Amino acid sequence: MAATLLKEQKDISAFVDSIDTFLLDCDGVIWAANHVFDGVQTVLDLLRSKGKRILFVTNNSTKSRKSYLKKFQSLDIHASAEEIFGSSYAAAYYIANVLKFPKDKSVYVIGMAGVREELESEGISHIEDDGTNLHAMDEMATIKPDPRVGAVLLGFDLNINYKKYAKAFTYLHADKNCHFLATNSDLTFPAGGTVYPGTGALLAALSAPLDREPVVLGKPHQPMLDVIIAKYHLDKARTCMVGDRLDTDIEFGKTGGLKTLLVMTGVTTEEALKKSSIQPDYYIASLGNLQP
Ligand code: PLP
Ligand code: CA
Repeated sequence: MAATLLKEQKDISAFVDSIDTFLLDCDGVIWAANHVFDGVQTVLDLLRSKGKRILFVTNNSTKSRKSYLKKFQSLDIHASAEEIFGSSYAAAYYIANVLKFPKDKSVYVIGMAGVREELESEGISHIEDDGTNLHAMDEMATIKPDPRVGAVLLGFDLNINYKKYAKAFTYLHADKNCHFLATNSDLTFPAGGTVYPGTGALLAALSAPLDREPVVLGKPHQPMLDVIIAKYHLDKARTCMVGDRLDTDIEFGKTGGLKTLLVMTGVTTEEALKKSSIQPDYYIASLGNLQP
């Protein structure tokens, strides 16, 4: 069914009344780079004053909840660490609570500070490569299976290199019981008005030679939603995913049985929406317009 445009006051009020929890994507919904969209802070305050729960849900694994909070503060947006849900935290929560990861095992991490900090927040032991390169083929022999490694977790890593890949491959290839996890699978991410290869691009180079599929936490995959529901005990029928991307945010909400709202302040144009097979329940010009 084609999406309904939220424009009239009565429609906006009825929609807001039907929802208890708003899951908000950030880039393209709350801000673009360092610019907060008009009216967004007013809407967040209004929703909170009506007793609505707000969770900021992002696939970006490079930051922990704590460092995300600093970004919110720098942009003068009111938020608490409890309201922020990143793919690195989702991965840590999943490893601790769903996999019930054994205390004598470690997670081998390819990723950045966000992943490390969140694993530590959940008390999960982790190891990483030292980041130096291999220089000769006979150094390959130094890379061996490691019985300590019970999971490999791949997130976005600006300093990924062959040795990191070779270790991850070796752990997963040698031990079929070693869990294969990724924070997200976005093939690209937006920055500086263009896009760059994302975690999904890094992941493809590991999953292709392994012939194994990872558990991917981030949108549109469902483990992230399972983790959110488990942690906050949400009623799916009264939860709305708000995002700017059809194939991640809206797909995530629809597959999970949530209500979905597309905002037109990000990557999706009205023309693309009309043509797409992925239709949100509602769309609106900007989150800043959601003022009942
Ligand atoms: N991954 C990285 C490394 C990013 O920088 C971003 C956005 O900036 C994303 C993923 C996508 O995140 P979101 O789900 O907030 O759109
Ligand atoms: Ca976005």
